[in-house]
Formats: sequence, C-alpha cells, structure tokens
Amino acid sequence: MTANVNAPSVADTFVVSCIDPRFVEEPALLLRALGRAGRYSEMRIAGAALAAVNDAQPAWSTALWDNLAASRQLHGVRRVTFLNHRDCGAVNAWAGRKLSANPQDELQVHTDLLNRAAAEVRRRHPDMEVEIKLMDLDGSVQILPCQHCAPQGLRAEAVAPPSRPANPDAFAELVRLRTAPGAQLTEAQERDLLATGVREHGLTAAVARQLRAQHGGAGGAAAERDIEAFLSSRADARGRIGRSDVTAAARLYRRLAGGSVADRDAQARAARVASGAGLEPRAEGVWPFRSEAWFHRLTAAPA
Ligand SMILES: [Zn+2]
Repeated sequence: MTANVNAPSVADTFVVSCIDPRFVEEPALLLRALGRAGRYSEMRIAGAALAAVNDAQPAWSTALWDNLAASRQLHGVRRVTFLNHRDCGAVNAWAGRKLSANPQDELQVHTDLLNRAAAEVRRRHPDMEVEIKLMDLDGSVQILPCQHCAPQGLRAEAVAPPSRPANPDAFAELVRLRTAPGAQLTEAQERDLLATGVREHGLTAAVARQLRAQHGGAGGAAAERDIEAFLSSRADARGRIGRSDVTAAARLYRRLAGGSVADRDAQARAARVASGAGLEPRAEGVWPFRSEAWFHRLTAAPA
C-alpha cells in the first residue's frame, strides 16, 4: 500500500499493544492520561512489538506493517507507540524461557526487542517518530531508552556495537558533568548521552538508562513530553490548571521516570513543564485568600 503523506491527520499515534486479557483497559487508561484520547489508533497483536521482529511468524509482521500503512493513509498517524508488558506469554515463548523469573533479564529482552521494532518502523517510515514503553503488572509504565527512535542521521552511530569494555564509573561521571544542577537537557542531548554510554562506555541501553537516573536526577525529556500532554489535556478553556492537576502530573512523572524522583522534585518539575507550556495556575484556597502562590512556590523550588 502506498502511503499518502498528505492524509488529513485525525489520529497522531499508532499504538501497538498485546492481546493479553489482563491488560485490555490499560492502554486506553494510559493514553487518556497522556491526553491522547480519541487521537490514536490501536492494534492488538500477541507480544505487541514482537510482531515486528518474530521471524517464526512472518504473517504477523505483514499484518503489522499493512495496518500501520493503512492507518497512516486513513488517519494520518505520524508516531508509533509500542506498548509491551511484563509477564508476556508470547514474548516468553519466543525467548524460550519464563522471563519474569528474572526482572532484569526480562527488561533487557523487551528493551532489545522494542529497539529492533523501532528500527524497523524507521526503516519503513523514516519520518515517523517511535516511542517504546514497558508496562508492569500493576499498570505502571516505563519509557525505555530508544536508540532507534532518533532522526536518521544519528542512527548509524547509535547502532554501532560497543567497542570498549564496559566502564560504568566513567559513564556515571559523564552523567554528573552533563547534568550539573539547574542544567536541563534537551531531548537530543538526552539521546546523545545515552548513546554515548552504549557506544563509548560499552554499556547496555538499560544500564546506561539506569545510571542516568541514578546520577543525574530523573531522565526525562520523554517523560516531560508526556506530562506536558497530560497537563494540557487537563487545562480549562482559559489554559489554567489547578493544584490537583499538578499533583497528578507529578505522580505520572514519577512513574515514567522510574520512581527515583522525590515527590517534591516531581511537583516542581511538573509545575515548570506547565509554565514552559504556557499554562497558567488557577487561584486556590479560601476566599479572600485565594492565590496562585502555590504554583510560584513550586516553580521557584531548586531543581
Ligand atoms: Zn502479552
């Protein structure tokens, strides 16, 4: 099928999730929380991203790529979200072991599989964005490092195999240097930092991501984008948000950033993202003492 790149965009995201009956509601809940309700198209297939890379089931990948091309043509989708989940029977069968017996092994297998799926999307649709996520059994979702979601120019570098023995200490030091207090990395800088960990320090993507979170506060460009979408979806007609919206966004941020962030920091981060997105605080409190001070206290807090 030929993609019509001028198709009107009625959905921006093509979501690929699993057929597991335990997770029927979760993708919709997540996408609603991210402010994408009604703006995505969902395909359910066993193992989610597995369909893109499972050579034993070529019909699955044909179905996936045909449906993506159809959604692009019919709805104008420009982004693919692969939403895998832990304890996935299809991925276990493909890997030949019960992955949930070792959560670190499970994370690694899904990270690799999702990165391969992302690379396949970009090979077929170089102008599309991809994001890869792993859902836990409690419905919380982790954004995984994606070396292949980068623009094409960066891709060749990022996929090069590690050329040196693993050196986590050197990478941790680099993270501390690049994330000096007050420094806010752009999405491209985040990607570059993680790619450096893989390329020059011999780390797996998962380990680089973990060290990034440990030594430089929360990671976050992707998480920030998601909470910005969330906050925008909660704003009233005049672009104002309330205290409870910021609290909910902070909770979402902590989940997406891997739980290593203190609640107060997450609230400050959420308030700053809101401010950066041009959203205004609603006055809170009891009349005549209502004010926006709650918001300014948060945005003024040290990073
Ligand atoms: Zn599954």
